[in-house]
Amino acid sequence: MSNELRSRLFEELDSIQFVDPHTHINALDPTSSHLGDILGYHYYTELAHSAGLTTQQIEDAAESPRELVPILIEKFGCLDNTIQYSWFSEILSGLFGIEEALDSSNWEQIFNQTESQLGAPDWCDQVFEKSHLKAVFLTNDFDDPLAGFDTDRYIPCLRTDDLVFHLGKPETVSRLNQASGEEVTNRQTLDKAIEKLFEHFKANGARACAISLPPGFQPESIVPGRAEKAVDAILKKGIQADTADQAAVSKYVFWKLAQCCDEFKLPFDLMIGVNRGVYTDGVYQGQDLYDSRVSLIQYRHLFNHFADVKFPISVLASVTNQELVSYSWIFPNVLTNGHWWYSNTPTYIEHDAAARLEAVPRNKQIGYYSDMYKMEFALPKFNMYKRILAKILAEKFVIDRRWTETDAIALGKQVLSDNSESVFGF
Ligand SMILES: [Zn+2]
Repeated sequence: MSNELRSRLFEELDSIQFVDPHTHINALDPTSSHLGDILGYHYYTELAHSAGLTTQQIEDAAESPRELVPILIEKFGCLDNTIQYSWFSEILSGLFGIEEALDSSNWEQIFNQTESQLGAPDWCDQVFEKSHLKAVFLTNDFDDPLAGFDTDRYIPCLRTDDLVFHLGKPETVSRLNQASGEEVTNRQTLDKAIEKLFEHFKANGARACAISLPPGFQPESIVPGRAEKAVDAILKKGIQADTADQAAVSKYVFWKLAQCCDEFKLPFDLMIGVNRGVYTDGVYQGQDLYDSRVSLIQYRHLFNHFADVKFPISVLASVTNQELVSYSWIFPNVLTNGHWWYSNTPTYIEHDAAARLEAVPRNKQIGYYSDMYKMEFALPKFNMYKRILAKILAEKFVIDRRWTETDAIALGKQVLSDNSESVFGF
């Protein structure tokens, strides 16, 4: 019974169109050009490295897609158990109609075939349609001109890591000057420049502000006098400034961003818990890891102070999910958002999503986002999520709690689709 029920629920979830609320898509170049773009995704390079290829072998091969693909295929025998490998298989079958597995005997022929399919003028439209996507959120640098693309399909989102954590680099300040038209010389002009960025993003259809945060970060308000001294030190000494001044500036800018989110009515997506560069010899984007010592208690001042700002929260690992469920259960402004990175595998998604569905108000759960860099990944990632969601709804709601299928489907559609639209204000 459960399998048929799950299939029926999946079909219903699969029948609707939705928005992907967090991606790294380049709106000016959204799809892959060849298989090298698809297999160049860090999940494949880091897994192949983990399974035995050297970083050097991968980086050398990455110069040319026709070298990268066969070298990664060598390791597929060690990776075909992983969910990331299954995403690739589903891209081949779901988007290209290729059912056979890629191996050393057929890769060139498949590379050529897919390259010509990827070159079709309507390829991107085909991918949107097959993936049931209406629109995707972008991750825009603060100095992105936001020009040259349809902002109804590619929704701007102001990414702010550089402002909070890299203001000590001279290039960040000059980019900020350039983007805002302000000359940042002190705390007041820094405030003004940040406000200008919000005006620019808001005027161009931005629906959110976002940032990823290291495990040790603890937001709090910095008094103006202290902030002035710290900003002056950073502007004068850059990354040579005292670490206490650098930390104070990070907190100050972060708090300012939250104030702007309040003023400009933008949700502030917080992606909490990433330690950058843990594995120093790792491949590109394969160096960062979570740190279980992070706690949402570090965010209590923020959540208490900004009652009118919506904070969709992503946690890097499942170990932090129970805190997120509890915070979202208590704080009206804390929302659960997707299954990020190391928690984005079926075992953790099932556990984490089920915990949210049984304890957090249903209007506060943004079910899933792809976090993809190329459009081809929406289909397999969302299909993975929809299958898990159908399983949870079947087992925990229809069977265990005797919900009707109709009611279970309505809950599934709400977390998959409706909530991202209501939270981000469509
Ligand atoms: Zn991301």
